[in-house]
Amino acid sequence: MSEQTKTETAAPKPTSFHDTAEELIFERSRAGRVGYRFPALDVAETKLESLLPGTLLRDDIEGETEVSEVDVIRHFTRLSKLNMSIDSGLYPLGSCTMKHNPRINEAMARREGFAYSHPLQPEHQVQGSLELIWLLEQTMKEIFGLPRVTLQPVAGAHGELTGILMVRKALAKQGNPRKVILIPDSAHGTNPASAAFAGYTTKELKSNSHGTLDLDLLEREVTEDVAALMLTVPNTLGVFEGQITKIADILHRKGAFLYCDGANLNSFVGIARPGDMGVDVIHSNLHKTFSTPHGGGGPGAGPVGVAESLVPFLPAPTIERRDDGTFYQDFNRPDSIGRMRAWNGNFGVLVRALTYMRSMGGEGMRRMAEIAVLNANYIRARLKDAYHLPYDDPSLHEVVFDDKTQLANDVHTLDIAKRLMDFGFHPPTIYFPLIVPGALMIEPTESEPKEELDAFCDAMLAIAREAKESPELVKSAPHTTPVRRLDEARAARQPILKWTPSR
Ligand SMILES: *Cc1c(COP(=O)(O)O)cnc(C)c1O
Repeated sequence: MSEQTKTETAAPKPTSFHDTAEELIFERSRAGRVGYRFPALDVAETKLESLLPGTLLRDDIEGETEVSEVDVIRHFTRLSKLNMSIDSGLYPLGSCTMKHNPRINEAMARREGFAYSHPLQPEHQVQGSLELIWLLEQTMKEIFGLPRVTLQPVAGAHGELTGILMVRKALAKQGNPRKVILIPDSAHGTNPASAAFAGYTTKELKSNSHGTLDLDLLEREVTEDVAALMLTVPNTLGVFEGQITKIADILHRKGAFLYCDGANLNSFVGIARPGDMGVDVIHSNLHKTFSTPHGGGGPGAGPVGVAESLVPFLPAPTIERRDDGTFYQDFNRPDSIGRMRAWNGNFGVLVRALTYMRSMGGEGMRRMAEIAVLNANYIRARLKDAYHLPYDDPSLHEVVFDDKTQLANDVHTLDIAKRLMDFGFHPPTIYFPLIVPGALMIEPTESEPKEELDAFCDAMLAIAREAKESPELVKSAPHTTPVRRLDEARAARQPILKWTPSR
């Protein structure tokens, strides 16, 4: 036993039933083992050679898996337990809003009328699906406080691109698309990528000591070359841009647009409306705030709301209601930026999100935001003596700590995150936002009961104690997971996705 594995005796009990990687052997096949036997033939046997040339026939499939039913069930059940998920516990991945996905959403998305409708069906056969999109647009309009919303974009970043392309087209129509998009250093990382994709150069604005936008700096930087500012609200420190109406004024005076990255609407939905703050264009993520499942690059939706000045440029088709109450797709939009997606976006995600909104109701969504903020602040209050808070401004739906205190014992954010897994928790977002070195970005969401928040805080406090008293224990974590510290770059770039038989 190595020195390192000896320290494992002090680790908490594993939460999965695997103690060692050896138990994870993927190869379960045993020669001659079967899961199913065909009944005896009750018809005359046909010789295969009479149907196919002998050279095409073989007696055995080389490397074929030979397993029993119980082998198969246990194999897949075991694999399903190797991952952490929101269904097994708190998943405090800041900025990602990993909240519970209510099962009624799934029941609605599976209803035959929705699940089996086809986008090429004639409009009179899919009135219900068109009405659903229209209703969701009405709801998002109310939430954004803006006159129109497109539901075509299938991710937050896709919404950003859609929004900036509309800004570009609006400015081009006035004679000059301009060149620059301003982006604060506290913005989400997708913002500069989307702006560049839409043909702009980006300029970073340094945040002030509160982690918010410096208005004097903005005033200096907004020239006739600036098309828009992309402002993440609340920003990635979980701090609200309290000066947002002044920010909008500064931009509008120079003919520039205010783009709001509202991916994380969880913090103020039903409490404040971006449209009332002077925002011209905003996207939000249905797969965060509105509880549709996400992660692993699965389907999402990033609806974009626009002010009156951008309505003509919305992606086509839009979904419209006739005076007689029927619905249709309007392709006759001469100034549209065109399609951003085949058909009408990720329809199944739209069904889930509208189900969530309707089951919560307006009051329910407001309460959801209040509890999301309360939960983040509960964690902040319990951990702030043990972990350093780089920005002291009030937190909304997430709280950002760093590893400054623990660095005294050479314990880093990565070590803390890995050690959390030994306690059965998915780690928070780490090393983001970039303006906080060693950031630990914690977002509990409203769907966690107090006991789960307490268990998480207890684990974080235990790790802070360990960092002082036995730093090696933290630095060599995780001790209880099937795999320990991976080469993350290689795991992402050279994933082994195919099973190859060992024989
Ligand atoms: C998640 C997120 C995005 C990107 O959303 P995707 O659906 O992953 O493209 C953009 N901005 C913020 C603030 C986010 O949290």
